[in-house]
Amino acid sequence: MEEKQVEIEKQREIGRLAFNVMQKLSFVRESCTPAELEAVQLICSEIRKIGIVPEVEEFMMDHAVIHQASLKFGGKTYEAGGYMMSGSTPESGIWAPFHYAQDAEEADLMDAKGKIVLLNRRLTPEVYERLIRAQVKGFITFTGTIIDDRSKTDLPDCELYDWARKFGVIPGINLRAEDALALVKENPKEVVLKLTQEEGQWPAHNIIAEVPGTEENGETIVLGGHYDSAQFSPGVYDNGAGSAILIELLKYFKEHPAKRNLKFIWFSAEERGLVGSKAFVKAHEEELKQIRFMINVDLAAPLLGADKACVMADQSLCHMIDYLAKEVGFPITVRQSIYSSDSIPFTDAGIPAVNFFRVGIEGGVKIHHRNDDLNQVGFDNLSRTTAFILLFCQRMLNSAVFPVPEKIPEKIIEDIDVYLKRKTKEEA
Ligand SMILES: [Zn+2]
Repeated sequence: MEEKQVEIEKQREIGRLAFNVMQKLSFVRESCTPAELEAVQLICSEIRKIGIVPEVEEFMMDHAVIHQASLKFGGKTYEAGGYMMSGSTPESGIWAPFHYAQDAEEADLMDAKGKIVLLNRRLTPEVYERLIRAQVKGFITFTGTIIDDRSKTDLPDCELYDWARKFGVIPGINLRAEDALALVKENPKEVVLKLTQEEGQWPAHNIIAEVPGTEENGETIVLGGHYDSAQFSPGVYDNGAGSAILIELLKYFKEHPAKRNLKFIWFSAEERGLVGSKAFVKAHEEELKQIRFMINVDLAAPLLGADKACVMADQSLCHMIDYLAKEVGFPITVRQSIYSSDSIPFTDAGIPAVNFFRVGIEGGVKIHHRNDDLNQVGFDNLSRTTAFILLFCQRMLNSAVFPVPEKIPEKIIEDIDVYLKRKTKEEA
C-alpha cells in the first residue's frame, strides 16, 4: 500500500521540471537574434544542472534584417512585412502598375509584365516560377484575417527560400489581410513598393547533450525538438514545451541510464524551414550510421488539445505505440504520416522516426503568434505527455532487439520528396 502511494507521488512529480523550464523559456526566441543566444544559455544551464556538459554547435544560415517594407497606394502608406532574401528596392521604392493576380494561374498573369502583383495564395515553386516567367516587378502576399485587431496582432516577415530564388529574385512584401482587401477594393492604377534589407549569412546554434548507454552495441537514439520560436511568438506551446520535456527526459536518463546511447538535440531555426536539423544531418553524415531511430517532440501542453503521434516508419510502430498507450490508459491517436518538423531531415537520411505532439484545433490554440503564451497551457497535460514519452523511450532504449524496421515506407519517402520541394505532388 505504502509503496503504491510512493509510486503515485512519483507520477505526480513527472513534468514538474519540464513545466518549470517551459515557463523560463517563455520569450520570443527567433533564430539569428540575441534572444536565440539567451535561450541557448538557459537550456545549457539546465543541462549543466543535471551534471552533463552541453555542446553548442554553430551553423550559418540565410537571414536578413529588414529595414523598411511598405506599400503606398491611394495616397496612403501601409506597413508591410518583408520577404527576407528577396532583395532591396531603391530607398524611394519601385513604382509600378498594380495587378491582382489571384492564384497566379497563366490567365491571371497574361498582362502582368512590369506590374506589382497581389497573390491570393502562398508561394510554391510552381507559382513563383510563373511570376518570374511573367516578368512581374514585385509581389505581395497577405496573412492574418480581415477582422484582425491591429493592436493585438503582429505583421510577420516572410522569406524567399532558395527553392524560389533559383528562378530569380524579385522583391516581395506581406500585407495585413485587411489592407490586401483595401488594395483590391481600390484597385489602384499604380503602387509604390518599398523594401530594404541587409541580407547575409548569420550564425545559429543547435544544442547537444549525450547520455551513453550501458551496453556497447553502438546504437544511438536521437531525442530532438526545436527551441526557436517564430517572430513575435513567445513559443510556449510551439515549442518551449517540447524543449522542456527533453530537459526532463535528459535528467531521468542521466539518473537511470538505458542500454542504448541517447543523444538529445535542441534545434534552432526549425521555424525558418528546418534549418537547424538539416544542418545537423549535413554536418554528421558519418555518425548517422549509428543513429537507429529519432524521436521528435514539437508542440506540447495546450489545455485545449489532444495527444497525437505521427510515425515516419514501418506501420508496426503505429501498433506498438497504440498498444502501449492502451496498456497505461493514455489517450493518443497514432498515424503513419510525415510531420512538418525536425524529424524530416533524419528520415530523409534513412532514419525511422516518430513525432509526439499535442495539438489543438483552429481557434483553440495559437501558434506563431504573440498569444502562444503561458495562458493556453497546463501542467497536467504536460505531465501526462512527458510520462508517456518517457515510457516509450524506456521501451525503445532497453529492448533486447531494436523493434523498428530500418526500412522507411515508400509513401513516406515520396511525401518527404514533395515536402522538401524536390518533386511536385503529380510527380510523386
Ligand atoms: Zn514547432
